[in-house]
Amino acid sequence: MWLISKLRQLALVLRPGVVTLRYPFEPAVAPEGFRGRPVWDHHKCLGCGACSDHCSARCILVSDPCQELRVMLYDGARCTYCGRCAEICPEQAITMSGDFEMASGDREDLTTRLELFMLTCQRCGRCYEMENDNVLDRLDLKGYRYDHLEARAMIRKTSPQWSADLVRESKTYSRPTGRPQPGDR
Ligand code: SF4
Ligand code: SF4
Repeated sequence: MWLISKLRQLALVLRPGVVTLRYPFEPAVAPEGFRGRPVWDHHKCLGCGACSDHCSARCILVSDPCQELRVMLYDGARCTYCGRCAEICPEQAITMSGDFEMASGDREDLTTRLELFMLTCQRCGRCYEMENDNVLDRLDLKGYRYDHLEARAMIRKTSPQWSADLVRESKTYSRPTGRPQPGDR
């Protein structure tokens, strides 16, 4: 009786086969949709700070040590891997990677730093990134019209008169000098 019981137990154990991984002796791949360490693409990041504003763990810090430099610091020691930063980023500069093996005795191993060279918006005084095309560059290419100052005309981008060269022309704009003449506006 005892022997039969043991044989039944053995059959039960053997039936499913091996269901566990040999991890950590073999690498384990994170499943699709897994939210591991957030990774930044510095070519895409504008330094807008939206990820920092929305990080509930307050682990993305933004500092402007001088007018031209913005430093973004991600401190992974406090990250909850919620993915909100990746979700909110307007440039898709953050990816939630499959990296989950982050045990370390050195906090710097969990830190990501971005040093972004910025320009300053003359209207609001805030910084924007200057190395790549950014949202301010793209503003004059979006929308339905272009305001041509020399021609004093609004040109619809769907019209045959529209050309991207008009944007380059506008960069040659120079402020009028001298006294206003009759007929000047
Ligand atoms: S990662 Fe995205 S949200 Fe964060 S500062 Fe850069 S562009 Fe803005
Ligand atoms: S995953 Fe969540 S907690 Fe981690 S940096 Fe992004 S917003 Fe913050």
